[in-house]
Amino acid sequence: MPFRSLHIMDPILQSLHEEGYSRPTPIQEQAIPVILKGRDLLGCAQTGTGKTAAFAIPVLQLLAADRVAAKKPRIRGLVVTPTRELAIQIGESFEAYGRYTGLRTTVIFGGVNQNPQIKALNKGTDILVATPGRLLDLCGQGHISLREIELFVLDEADRMLDMGFIQDIRKLLKLLPEKKQSLFFSATMPPEIVTLAGSILHNPSKVTV
Ligand code: AMP
Repeated sequence: MPFRSLHIMDPILQSLHEEGYSRPTPIQEQAIPVILKGRDLLGCAQTGTGKTAAFAIPVLQLLAADRVAAKKPRIRGLVVTPTRELAIQIGESFEAYGRYTGLRTTVIFGGVNQNPQIKALNKGTDILVATPGRLLDLCGQGHISLREIELFVLDEADRMLDMGFIQDIRKLLKLLPEKKQSLFFSATMPPEIVTLAGSILHNPSKVTV
């Protein structure tokens, strides 16, 4: 099945072609149509399955569809992931697949000086990729508003649990608007993760690979 049959817009098809992707992976084939329809998603998938593109492509497409080019971008898409390495990789994927959409992506993570990140945020961004601690810090300091989030992605939820980030995630959820589309990914589904997913997702479509 080619990417085109998933109704992906031309600017994104072009970048996928340039990446050398010829066809969607199983998780992409299942998740992309569901996300484009506006449904919440519970994805049970490991790294290496093409999971990042499975959420990045439809998030870019949904946000690109009603982007106002003249306006300073505001954060409408949020991806939260447990580690700095994952945040950087996900940010690079959004940049690569979104290079012809006009959307901007910014990445923030802890362990480094926050000032360059604040400077980057002040230029305006459509999509924010973040680790939980730094995200909460910058929200607490008033540098980030999450009130206009339309799409929320929680990546590697089980690793968040292992790394002790669940309280941070619960705090973060209180800062997000009630009305949004949420995508939840985890390689495993222990009881705490099922409970967390249940508190975030509304009538989710389930995809397991
Ligand atoms: P991920 O599971 O998101 O960490 O992706 C694993 C690797 O697969 C990354 O290096 C991606 O660039 C690559 N990839 C993702 N989707 C595709 C695709 N449809 N065709 C070929 N490679 C892909």
